Amino acid sequence: MRQQLITADQVLPGPAGHRIADGAVLIQDGIILAVGPRAAVEGLTSPTAERQHFPDGTILPGLINCHVHLVFDACGDPARAAAEATHTELAERADQLLRSGVTTVRDLGDRDGAAIEFRDQHSRGPRIVASGPPITVPDGHCWFLGGAADGEAELRARVRQNAELGADVIKVMASGGQITPNSPSMWESQFTTAELAAIVDEASKAGLPVAAHAHGTDAIAAAADAGVATIEHCTWLREGGGGYDLRDDVAAKIAERGIFACVAWPSDWRGFMNRLGSARADQVASRFEWMTEHGIRMIPGTDAGAGSSGFDNYAGALQLYEHLGFDREHIIEMATTTSAEALGIGDTTGQLAPGLSADLLVTAGDPLADLANLGRLELVTVKGRPAALQTR
Ligand SMILES: [Zn+2]
Repeated sequence: MRQQLITADQVLPGPAGHRIADGAVLIQDGIILAVGPRAAVEGLTSPTAERQHFPDGTILPGLINCHVHLVFDACGDPARAAAEATHTELAERADQLLRSGVTTVRDLGDRDGAAIEFRDQHSRGPRIVASGPPITVPDGHCWFLGGAADGEAELRARVRQNAELGADVIKVMASGGQITPNSPSMWESQFTTAELAAIVDEASKAGLPVAAHAHGTDAIAAAADAGVATIEHCTWLREGGGGYDLRDDVAAKIAERGIFACVAWPSDWRGFMNRLGSARADQVASRFEWMTEHGIRMIPGTDAGAGSSGFDNYAGALQLYEHLGFDREHIIEMATTTSAEALGIGDTTGQLAPGLSADLLVTAGDPLADLANLGRLELVTVKGRPAALQTR
């Protein structure tokens, strides 16, 4: 039996609304045993426990990045990066995520199951929830990852194949994207609603949720009708391109069905907004507001590896939501408790509560006072195991 007692100026156990001043977390064999005021938790602690005290620190659940690609290298040639990705490269990227406070990542697209294999071989990094090769159409968005399928029978077979590879989630490219030459446009749907429903049906037989990449409003609507668990990007592009098509009925359905939206913006979202120009950046902000007004729950991710999105600075990525008007407490909740629920792992991680895995952070300073403090880390643990925070 190994006990660890971590004490700090405050504990934010999650969800929003809970704060323990002068608090403590007691861990036994990687599992949280108790959380509460320091004096009370100390009373439960064995005399031989390891003790760490952070007088100016905040203890909170480890962050979840809901959209990454460990096989991509953020250098703009994803097909080559995925083809050449080595175990060492994946380990470096996973370590970078961990050092930025990310204790769980959802990998939404690898090549031939590389991230799944990595998940099973690499015990020291963040917790990994992985999809394997995204399902797409022949010559469609990210076909080079090996997940192309044509027609319902092939789609169902592809789902079963990913499940057999060990996937935790099925990823489908419901619309086109940006990074594949000579493939459908971003606004264009790659599958019919019936095809997406067949994928959801086959995935549910294997006990797996479906994450749908969808930029176009038509693809978003089809994904919502098919009953996916999360919609990635959720850009609401109008059919034929040129502007947005914000359909109230579709937004209402997403909210009503409890489907989460992961817009997956990079840490350098300010640069992205500058490139859009202020008029379109304002449109983007109002689109987020409109989704929130409809009650759509959002979860954060960065699409790390794709485009120029790196694996570091998750605190910077979360500041996007502050810019959009979310309060800090709810941003932290989004990146922890809500994300864990969306990924179906809320009984394992996402909060500090007895029985859950000791996936936690200690920040120097209060993240409720300044969200940037999420990047000033004193301690990161996954399953109670401390991560090396210095770059090797
Ligand atoms: Zn992606």
